Amino acid sequence: MEKNIAIDYLRLSITDLCNLNCMYCTPLEKSRFLTHDDVLRYEEMARLVRIFTRAGINKVRLTGGEPLIKRGVVDLVKMLKGIEELKEISMTSNGILLKNLAPSLKAAGLDRINISLDTLRKDRFKKICGKDAFDDVWAGVEEAIKCGFDPVKLNVIPMQGVNDDELPDFARLTLEYPLIIRFIEFFHTNQRSEKLISSLISSVKTKKIIEQRFGVMNPIDSVQGNGPARYYKLSKAKGAIGFISGSTGNFCGNCNRIRVDCAGRISPCLFSGQVCDTRGLLRGDSSDDLIKEQIKRVFNNKSKYSRFSINERVVEMSSLGG
Ligand code: SAM
Repeated sequence: MEKNIAIDYLRLSITDLCNLNCMYCTPLEKSRFLTHDDVLRYEEMARLVRIFTRAGINKVRLTGGEPLIKRGVVDLVKMLKGIEELKEISMTSNGILLKNLAPSLKAAGLDRINISLDTLRKDRFKKICGKDAFDDVWAGVEEAIKCGFDPVKLNVIPMQGVNDDELPDFARLTLEYPLIIRFIEFFHTNQRSEKLISSLISSVKTKKIIEQRFGVMNPIDSVQGNGPARYYKLSKAKGAIGFISGSTGNFCGNCNRIRVDCAGRISPCLFSGQVCDTRGLLRGDSSDDLIKEQIKRVFNNKSKYSRFSINERVVEMSSLGG
């Protein structure tokens, strides 16, 4: 029997542009970015989020592309903060621009931030991400902690032959910093990620590598957040370590999230493609109630969409966000 999971978590991609070119993410041929007019304006995004809250959403995560390259992103956070029903606003970012923006994001009401970082080595960062920006990202991580974001999570994708020798180094960070290091299994998304399929390191293996170095970890209940991660702690650690088994596990049955891209297209699942286009409705004379009905229809059909019920399809994380 299908479970009825309350859908309360919206991931909103606010731009399809990024200031990095990661080896597993950016499409090989990104021939067409959305035009300025294709992309929802902040007022439209805020209206849409408000309507989503009336359909049951109470948490929103801003993602991209890279959300921090979007001019005025702090204003968007402020606008969203004004939506009473929203209990939490979070963001996933590569952290490059975070050092300067963290204080104003915090002041605007951003509650939490996840920073994607696959290496702690400067030279390697350029190889993985196409740009020499490790120092900027690390400065962003430190600033986020300093500003009081709690918790600050680092998203790491373990990849054989790419960063597998650094997994204990990431784990060690939790001894020194109050960071939540989340090891996320790589999954096949687009043409570019295809050649990395054989680099997948399972959560089980990553945990084993860490425990070989630091001893058996104690499981902990949960840390603040909405993800399907399992969490552990090293002895005397300030932070924690999480594992997300997107490739070897199946947590579709517990998925409480819905995704919207920056053009207002709703995807009930990362792999479902877009099933509802709200931009026309937002720009036409549709009432909030009518748009809410469309959203509710997607919610009601969400259980039909899961990675395991959809034939293999291309998904561009670089625009829809993680
Ligand atoms: N630019 C922001 C960032 O870097 O966090 C947000 C967008 S980025 C697409 C969001 C997340 O998706 C990143 O943590 C990235 O590592 C993850 N991601 C992209 N492609 C992936 C893949 N094939 N498997 C697992 N995670 C992936």
